[in-house]
Amino acid sequence: MIKFYNTLTKRKEEFSPIEEKIVKLYTCGPTVYDLAHIGNFRAYVFEDLLYRYLEFRGYKVIRVMNITDVDDKTINGAKSKGISLREYTDRYIKIFIEDMERLRLKKPDYMPRATEHINEMVEIIKKLLKKGYAYYKDGSIYFSISKFPSYGKLSGIDLSSIKVGARVDKDEYEKEDVKDFVLWKKVKEEEGVWWDTEIGRGRPGWHIECSAMSMKYLGESFDIHTGGVDNIFPHHENEIAQSEAATGKKFVNYWLHCAHLLVNGEKMSKSKGNFYTLRDLLNKGYNPIAIRYLLLSTHYRDPLNFTENSLKQAENTVKNYNEFYRGLNICGYEKYNPEIKKEIEKAKEGFIEYLDDDLNISPALSSIFSLIKKVNIFFSKGEFGRDNVKEVREFIEDIDKVLCIIEKKEESLSEDILNLIKEREKARKEKDYKKADEIRNVLKEKGIMLEDTPYGTRWKKN
Ligand code: AMP
Ligand code: ZN
Repeated sequence: MIKFYNTLTKRKEEFSPIEEKIVKLYTCGPTVYDLAHIGNFRAYVFEDLLYRYLEFRGYKVIRVMNITDVDDKTINGAKSKGISLREYTDRYIKIFIEDMERLRLKKPDYMPRATEHINEMVEIIKKLLKKGYAYYKDGSIYFSISKFPSYGKLSGIDLSSIKVGARVDKDEYEKEDVKDFVLWKKVKEEEGVWWDTEIGRGRPGWHIECSAMSMKYLGESFDIHTGGVDNIFPHHENEIAQSEAATGKKFVNYWLHCAHLLVNGEKMSKSKGNFYTLRDLLNKGYNPIAIRYLLLSTHYRDPLNFTENSLKQAENTVKNYNEFYRGLNICGYEKYNPEIKKEIEKAKEGFIEYLDDDLNISPALSSIFSLIKKVNIFFSKGEFGRDNVKEVREFIEDIDKVLCIIEKKEESLSEDILNLIKEREKARKEKDYKKADEIRNVLKEKGIMLEDTPYGTRWKKN
């Protein structure tokens, strides 16, 4: 039974999707005005774990991640470069997708762009106007939070001091600024970006796009909505208000939010300037899989302080893990060791039991590392059977559907090389150590390292 901590109810709840075995999942995606930083990627890595784990547990997951390609920041960016909004945002979308691939983030089923869903947004705003939840002021349209009695239910904000009719035009604002928020912004000629629609010439505010795109692809009510904790207010609070006011139905059943990636105890963010992009770290020579592992291996609701030292540790862990995996290419002892099967079962149970518990990744990983330790002991005692090699390998590959940290290097060797390894083993048996060493050196030059074990020689590629 899977449990998630639901921000809406403020407790851990048993997960039960609307349709059996199908999960509809929405993620607030990037605003494509610049490179994403690894703080943003903490959120996307957490969502990737969620996505992959639900699939691992047998659910069919339909996932949407929107792309915010129209807002103050993208418009300003395009203007400052003197290019069209489309050309500007295309550039950053391309980079974002490359970064996702480097971090092995599974591509969502849909990645809709805000600018391609203006009609859907207009339709919701029309409904809100008709039902009296929205009103015009100076050509822009606002959502009246006093008309929606449960406003604040997600974030728990205090509404007592709110002045009815006070408005905020900015997309991002703080809790002290809780006011009627903008759904549609009247055209500003100097921005050069607008749409002519039934509700006027202008462009959408930020929040409405996520209601429009989530409901278009997932329906008026769906299972899980995710983001970083900074999205809870105002963005997700506003999404709930405008969606539920428009449809009269519950918008989302489970709201999951990840804690921030910090630098010296402060949120990593563009505005503070304390950020690393993925490229910054790759240029310094770090392995993207180690970055994935670092972001993945702390529970998503615990803040994570980023340091290069912790990244180096993650690199070591990933390296050792992969060495263990690649070492599973020996032929193994004839006899089958049933203890190893039992250890695999135990590790699998641990992995599932902990991840079922609100994606409790650290003990889930510990159960895998403890299996590796035990296998290494069996191995050094010469109690590692031929079929055990296969079953351990299969298990590691199975959980990699979730973790995605195995580095797929070319794993097979050519006939010629295998023959050289055999020839060397023969030489060793015949105590012709000179020849054995020569062959070892030839292989070393080809990047193939040999290790002699009680079961014969195992190889790994450098
Ligand atoms: P943005 O492009 O600013 O809308 O952010 C995209 C995603 O990254 C959102 O889900 C944010 O909540 C998340 N995010 C931004 N900064 C951080 C951070 N330092 N740690 C974790 N998540 C973050
Ligand atoms: Zn959103």
